[in-house]
Amino acid sequence: MAYIAGVDIGNNSTEVAIAELNRGSQPRFLSSAMVRTVGIKGTLRNILGIIDALDLALEPLTITRKELSRVLLNEATPVIGDVAMETITETVITESAMIGHNPSTPGGLGLGLGTTILLDELESAATEQPWIVVIPGTVEFREAAERLNRATSRELEIAGAIVQKDDGVLIHNRLHRPIPIVDEVLHIDRVPRQMPAAIEVAAIGKAIEKLSNPYDIATLFDLSPDETRNVVPIARALTGTRSAVVIKTPRGDIQERRIPAGKITLIGRQQKAEVQVEAGAEAIMNQLAHVSPLSEIQAEPGTNVGGMFETVRKVMADLTDQPVSAIRVQDIIAVDTLVPQKVLGSLAGEYSLGNAVGLAAMVETHKLPMQRLARKLEIEIMVPVEVAGVEAEMAIHGALTTPGTRPPLAILDLGGGSTDASLIKETGAIESTHLAGAGDMVTLLIDKELGLDDLDLAENIKFFPLAKVETLFHLRHESGAVEFFQEPLDPRLFGRVVVISENGPKPLDTREPLAKIIEVRKKAKKKVFVQNALRALVSVAPANSIRLISFVALVGGSALDFEIPQMISDALMEYGVVTGRANVRGVEGPRNAVATGLVLAHAAKESG
Ligand code: ADP
Ligand code: MG
Repeated sequence: MAYIAGVDIGNNSTEVAIAELNRGSQPRFLSSAMVRTVGIKGTLRNILGIIDALDLALEPLTITRKELSRVLLNEATPVIGDVAMETITETVITESAMIGHNPSTPGGLGLGLGTTILLDELESAATEQPWIVVIPGTVEFREAAERLNRATSRELEIAGAIVQKDDGVLIHNRLHRPIPIVDEVLHIDRVPRQMPAAIEVAAIGKAIEKLSNPYDIATLFDLSPDETRNVVPIARALTGTRSAVVIKTPRGDIQERRIPAGKITLIGRQQKAEVQVEAGAEAIMNQLAHVSPLSEIQAEPGTNVGGMFETVRKVMADLTDQPVSAIRVQDIIAVDTLVPQKVLGSLAGEYSLGNAVGLAAMVETHKLPMQRLARKLEIEIMVPVEVAGVEAEMAIHGALTTPGTRPPLAILDLGGGSTDASLIKETGAIESTHLAGAGDMVTLLIDKELGLDDLDLAENIKFFPLAKVETLFHLRHESGAVEFFQEPLDPRLFGRVVVISENGPKPLDTREPLAKIIEVRKKAKKKVFVQNALRALVSVAPANSIRLISFVALVGGSALDFEIPQMISDALMEYGVVTGRANVRGVEGPRNAVATGLVLAHAAKESG
């Protein structure tokens, strides 16, 4: 009798399966465990996580680490499946001052046009022209209102006000003559003085109309057609906000600087193609399919995409102790997105939604780091360690323990860094592939598209369904279902969009409406996983025809997602493919396929 452990080191998780081997009979699985992978897959830091996972799996058993007769590691292919994504777009930097945001309490209503002036300077101001008054945070609202009223009684025309604190309503309530007021302007000191400005506040629940339209801005400021083209990013940035200010800048027009998006060169084994990133995700992916099988992908230096490729290769070179020249990008996935871009000259941190192409790249290295890892681990735990089998092959052996499956079968391993597929034929022959882009890219897309800059929040949005807390005693789930509570919810949740996590509703720190967040989440999942599922299956299918595959089992962490399996299943239905989530050994769900496969393959080999 012997105890063996199968260990699968992934980009995200390290999974273990422990089994008892008895000559002449099937292995008996005793326990399993999963921990977060420590360090990048294939590097020595992984050892910390492996030992943790082993101990966790051994804990309920009566055996110790030393009693294991063997530890089996997956043979990570020379592809290190970590994924980096950067938004690749033509960066337009405009110079002009604008404020556009949704303060919770703007004051007044309507449109005002005038020249900017500091509240302090109002006393000595001329009466011929309308003024837009800039009120710094040091001035208290009663005093501000009083001074504005005094100015009006001196026949000064006040067209609007820009306020630093959130006093818009308080000031407005005390004015004899109503004006539009934009408040919560953080960088009030950067508002240029003595410049023509327009201010607009919409009614509650509505968005501004004039300052979000380039032609209205042109009308207000008397712009030429060229100048009008240049205010487009401003108008776009202001679309959908409740209040806004546009200030004509000192230089009178807007400066532009462009960094080209750049082109990528796809080098296939038979042919080669170049494609401009600006052509969009579809064009890139079409070319990629056209030249595949791929041997390498290169990017034009000095461009956005060139910069991204260099970063990925350098990070990988550092982590694996190899020269940058040895690192080659071997697959990419491109996805069209809209990302908020900071507009230069914005005074309250506004952004404009720009078209972008998100790219995830997968890198190939030349050395198999697994052997090195195995030797080191062996010394640490004093148990023989063996690099035992190719990951994709092991995954399919593990998946085949799902009740109701048999070859021929294809699996999709939906991980964090890569989407892998393999196909086992009736003869036992296996085809497999690894593609860039999986769960991590979905998280990144959600983060970028919603402008969160908070990957944990983005991961939460990916993981859990949303709901809106409508009162302290009920919330409306995104499905429309209403849930009531006996006890009041935390008052801080009132009116908020929340994720329904295992620990109950958790508020999202974003101002985006529920519907928008759902749309971004679903699109990100679809763009990455449906596209990659199809790409991966085409590459392993007989004659590259998905129609010739009958059954697909999903494994890996992203197969646990509450909507990804359905999206893939719907897409594959068109090809007559039956798709389902694996249930490894009838108990693990889509988890533990590779670790289980390692044990099974070893047992099969032992028994001859
Ligand atoms: P790897 O093999 O690359 O280590 P995993 O198979 O562990 O990856 O999958 C990791 C991915 O699965 C991550 O992107 C993670 O967000 C996602 N994931 C894990 N559990 C869930 C879940 N319950 N719902 C949705 N996604 C999940
Ligand atoms: Mg995996």
